[in-house]
Amino acid sequence: MIPFLDLKRVNEPHSVAIEEAIKRVLQSGWYILGQEVEAFEQQFAAYCQTRHCIGVANGLDALTLVLKAWDFPAGSEVIVAANAYIASVQSITLAGLTPVFVEPDPQTYLLDPAKLEVAITSCTRAILPVHLYGRCCDMEPINTLAKQYNLNVLEDAAQAHGALYQKKQAGSLGDAAAWSFYPSKNLGALGDAGAITTNDDTLADKLRALRNYGSKQKYVNDYLGHNSRLDEIQAAILSVKLPWLDDENKRRRALAQQYLSRICNPDVMLPPSDQLDQDAWHLFVIRHPRRDALRTFLRERGIGTDVHYPIPPHRQQAYETFAHLSFPIAEQLHKEVVSLPLNPTLTDGEIAYVIDTINLMSERAIA
Ligand SMILES: *Cc1c(COP(=O)(O)O)cnc(C)c1O
Repeated sequence: MIPFLDLKRVNEPHSVAIEEAIKRVLQSGWYILGQEVEAFEQQFAAYCQTRHCIGVANGLDALTLVLKAWDFPAGSEVIVAANAYIASVQSITLAGLTPVFVEPDPQTYLLDPAKLEVAITSCTRAILPVHLYGRCCDMEPINTLAKQYNLNVLEDAAQAHGALYQKKQAGSLGDAAAWSFYPSKNLGALGDAGAITTNDDTLADKLRALRNYGSKQKYVNDYLGHNSRLDEIQAAILSVKLPWLDDENKRRRALAQQYLSRICNPDVMLPPSDQLDQDAWHLFVIRHPRRDALRTFLRERGIGTDVHYPIPPHRQQAYETFAHLSFPIAEQLHKEVVSLPLNPTLTDGEIAYVIDTINLMSERAIA
């Protein structure tokens, strides 16, 4: 049996150090926004090569707080790929802004710079490139357009811990970046956690207030903020795991390489491999015209899969206002994508079994 993701097994190599970290926090008597959070913020900013890291409660808040901090006029437009994760889109509407969807690049599934310029209007204020599945968006043309039209760039790096773009770290590629440390991410806590990285001193200062009721000084409120503080326990656990992130990503890359070189099934479309060593391989996503039949075939042979994601944001019931929109590339992706097991604790034997099972499957076998 190979489950899609076994988090107990993923955390097992760190368990002794995690238990020590938890005990240290327990005995400190200080549980929210303290030394552990500050230490992790410094370590993560250094890792991302940014001046600041601001710990927050989760990835959705990280996105939303940045968009709120920028204080755009209500209804301003933010450009995002039509196949983005729902949190990326929800952050825009939660901040009182309007998402403008563009079709993803059909090869990389990422924001397509070639389709960006026509989406820009006089109301556009920001671009939200999502580094979906662990691969960085093509930031150079995105940043060039942003500069030309005076737009802010917010990276959604929640799937891209340790990913690189032109040798630079994800999280240092725009005006600010939002991170999630949800347990299943490449750098995952044992609960909810998130962060923002940025080189902008003024923005960082404001975000530190916004995460804590808009207050810089206790009981003095400069802004209307949120309660989006980071727990000491989660920060301490993240500090245990961060030093291992690059090694774990290296293992992900080796496993992705095995999938890429040995999956041989004419119906399967593999993910792009041209940035194998820069991609963080959060997910290994293949496409198949009969995705659900493939999932059943694998499940019957003990292999768990998942779908990221089955329904595009503009087709969600929560977004009835976008129901009239049509994005054929995104809609087809949502019908065909399936994520194979990929995490640093999988053995070569387990990956080989997944590969053999996919190669075994023919149209007849799943008819
Ligand atoms: C996980 C994720 C988020 C949201 O993170 P939470 O911590 O669950 O709020 C945002 N964007 C992307 C791309 C994600 O994968």
